[in-house]
Amino acid sequence: MLSNRLSSITPSYTISISSKVSEMKLRGIDVINLSIGEPDFNVPNKAKNFGIESLNKNLTKYDMVPGLKILREEICNKLSKENNCIYSPDEIVISSGAKNCITNTLLALLNENDDVLLPKPYWVSYPEMIKLVNANPILIDTKEDNNFKLTKYDLEKYITPKSKLLILNNPSNPTGSVYSKEELIHIVDFCTKNNIYILADEIYEKICFNNKFISVASLNEDAKNITITINGFSKFAAMTGLRLGYSASNKTIAKAISTIQGHLVSHPSLTTQYIGYSALKECSEDINEMVASYKKRRDLICDKLNNIPYINYIYPNGAFYVFINLEKIKEKFNYKKSFSIDFCNEFLNRYHVAVVPGIAFGMDNYIRISFACKEETFLNGLDQLNNFILDLKNSFSKNL
Ligand code: PMP
Ligand code: GLU
Repeated sequence: MLSNRLSSITPSYTISISSKVSEMKLRGIDVINLSIGEPDFNVPNKAKNFGIESLNKNLTKYDMVPGLKILREEICNKLSKENNCIYSPDEIVISSGAKNCITNTLLALLNENDDVLLPKPYWVSYPEMIKLVNANPILIDTKEDNNFKLTKYDLEKYITPKSKLLILNNPSNPTGSVYSKEELIHIVDFCTKNNIYILADEIYEKICFNNKFISVASLNEDAKNITITINGFSKFAAMTGLRLGYSASNKTIAKAISTIQGHLVSHPSLTTQYIGYSALKECSEDINEMVASYKKRRDLICDKLNNIPYINYIYPNGAFYVFINLEKIKEKFNYKKSFSIDFCNEFLNRYHVAVVPGIAFGMDNYIRISFACKEETFLNGLDQLNNFILDLKNSFSKNL
């Protein structure tokens, strides 16, 4: 028999849709994949070569559990220069992707039945990760007219005596919303007053289009002390398959995370760490080019969405997703249990376009599309969305 812990866990929607797409492609079907958030760019050449050199030098033995010293030093430089946060290398732990950093942090901080405050919509894996460590996700409703950004008033409504941690994802997956300094200050104030840690998942920080990105930990000493900043190389350096991320926290928490990591995985692949080191240190030009493309794509995709009837969307100021409200269509759509799953299945089966159902993020009236793909791909996908919606309109008995 499997452990009880699995009974409440659902597999990752984003990953299972992607697997379905690969299966359809193997059957010769030409699928437009706007589902998974995976950059279509390649790892910058300099970074790849640095990894190859490290292999040729046989740098392939066990190394330090929290990660290569030179990489932790480089991460500290980056945090100081770009984020205005001063950390020392013993406050950084490098792990196999941001997912691994988040689960290590949850294991280090949470006891059974602790509550974790989680604003909705949330990134697909957070609730499942929280349940895996036997803690409880407390889902917080946020307001669409505030672009689904959390406020201290939302927090006041949902805080419990057992609340120990808040997960704040900025820029947000799935909405692309970005918090201002003032908005973050109110949240940090609330958390410091109520002894709540903040896991600040800032994996999309470099993909930020309009305002300057502000790190939670940069706000003041209190903020830095209660915050565990999570970051990763999957998005900004297009290193999804290489699995590299890091956490920055106070020394006590960093040491606890490192102790856990020492037993679970030792440390992430050394070759990957060398590639990440060069990506951080030497590849800012490539990274700026990627971010400029995302911005151009964001503008194009929004222009196109503005011309599709019966939908609204959250205007993304960061990340590479658009969260689309299909409420008007839901009212007329004949679905069984979940509107967004049925809508996405029909869209995939009939129009061969893969998008993620909003229910993966806790919101069944929505779908998420990713623009981490070629212009032609998402423009074709949106043409099909327009066709699907017009087709549905014609089949509805009542007019939209
Ligand atoms: N956090 C968020 C908000 C994400 O969208 C993702 C998806 N990649 C992750 C963490 C995990 O990233 P990684 O590939 O570094 O594990
Ligand atoms: N985070 C990405 C997404 O939301 C990748 C998939 C995943 O890691 O779950 O699509």
